[in-house]
Amino acid sequence: MSSPQEATYGLVIGGAESEGAARERQELLDPANNRPLAQVAVGTVDDARRAMETAQAAFEGSDWAGGDGARRARSLLRLAQLLEQQQEEFARLETLNMGKTLREARGDVGFVIRTIEYLSGLADKVEGETIPVPGSRLNYTVREPLGVTVHIAPWNYPLLLAMRSVIPALAAGNAAVLKPASLTPLTAIRFARLAKAAGIPDGILNVVAGPGGRLGEALVRDSRCRSVSFTGSSEVGHRIAVLAAERLVPATLELGGKSPVVVLPDADLERAARGIALGIFGNAGQMCWAGSRLIVHESVRGALLEKVRAVAEALHLGPGTEDGAEMGPLVSREQAERVLDYVRSAREDGGTLVTGGGRPSTSTLAEGNFVQPTIVADLPPDARAAREEIFGPVLSTFAFRDVEEAVRLANTTPFGLFAAVWTRDLAQAHTLSRRLDAGMVVVNEPPMTFPQTPFGGFKESGIGSEQGIGVVRNYTRTKSVLVNLALPKKKA
Ligand code: NAD
Repeated sequence: MSSPQEATYGLVIGGAESEGAARERQELLDPANNRPLAQVAVGTVDDARRAMETAQAAFEGSDWAGGDGARRARSLLRLAQLLEQQQEEFARLETLNMGKTLREARGDVGFVIRTIEYLSGLADKVEGETIPVPGSRLNYTVREPLGVTVHIAPWNYPLLLAMRSVIPALAAGNAAVLKPASLTPLTAIRFARLAKAAGIPDGILNVVAGPGGRLGEALVRDSRCRSVSFTGSSEVGHRIAVLAAERLVPATLELGGKSPVVVLPDADLERAARGIALGIFGNAGQMCWAGSRLIVHESVRGALLEKVRAVAEALHLGPGTEDGAEMGPLVSREQAERVLDYVRSAREDGGTLVTGGGRPSTSTLAEGNFVQPTIVADLPPDARAAREEIFGPVLSTFAFRDVEEAVRLANTTPFGLFAAVWTRDLAQAHTLSRRLDAGMVVVNEPPMTFPQTPFGGFKESGIGSEQGIGVVRNYTRTKSVLVNLALPKKKA
């Protein structure tokens, strides 16, 4: 591969890479130093139409939708193998584009490989049912692909979150049009090239990069769009829900979070501290399910905070490509500014800075979008920084006296994506998991998921879920066929 710096990335429509209709390009910057990284074609509303048209034609004309599932499974498995062969290049490209550390990016690409392997095994198991009905009748259901599915992805896990919905849609026999986030389209474009090499027919996976408001909306509004999978902010999620409702197409919405981490007095504080730090400083805090609110029993608050602070202060910040970097830069200057603004607001609202709170002083990091791992204590639970998603490496901490108060604090925000509990008392852990208003709960773990684990949130965190064994069905429709078998005999 040529280095990304020399490279230009196009729109991938119908298996061919091209400029957008307006011949406009966007320059992408390396978040570690804000130097130019690559040029990418910017899609327009005309390009959206062309992508949707091409996908529809491929859906109707190729052997993908109508062909047998084993054919899809073979191509998907081949795709997983090709991705595994290029895992390092993909990881490097993700790091350069998004900023995360190479170790994190390798993990992301690995997750995509496992996802494809898992779902390829389901591609030939999209089964209907036979239903007992009165009389001499046969009633059965068929699971059909939907047609053209639209996928809109965010920038924090660019390849992983795009493929989390694209792959099940493909496994079910659909044709997909993906719009990656404008800042981080490179690995998705490269992935589409790989899909072609794996034998997925042209037009079955299309990738168009460009602005959400214009291009993204055009995809959802297109009359050929049969479902939308959106991962992004709750604000845009509301907009997508309205657009999808207007068109009467289903929408899976994976949105923001402000997730609680509840630490009971009997927890293993050493392990909890490492897990809490990973859950808020991993991916430089840019995680929908970041454990951003630490809710800790007052008796262990001081000891735990000391431990988390020690982990935070020992983290090595550096460009994601650097050996030993444990936390990379944020994705953009704007994102770093936004996060620092939240820290200012937390302090104005009475929060005490335990550590961090600014940019690192190291001169070699001055050009990049680095923000120190930050902990804020004593923030009133209704402060802006305690309720809104910061999407950066900022942990707020709250103390509780009894479990009732812990549950109240945990469930107080409009979000309901994820919650963590740290305790040695497993009965208490199960009871608490029931009471936490979150789509995902982990016990004695940092945020952790697998392709076979459903991933989704409640309340402002979204509708529906991705991943898990049921996900391929999300991208199908059910047709009931009822046959009367009691035909009168034909007269001779
Ligand atoms: P965003 O909502 O700004 O953008 C997400 C995607 O939507 C991008 O591709 C963007 O171009 C597109 N978009 C923007 N406006 C649009 C519109 N009007 N119509 C159609 N598309 C539009 O989110 P972001 O800043 O890229 O990502 C961060 C957010 O994503 C955070 O809130 C985070 O919590 C959330 N997120 C959720 C999950 C999850 O699984 N629940 C996972 C990762 C990120």
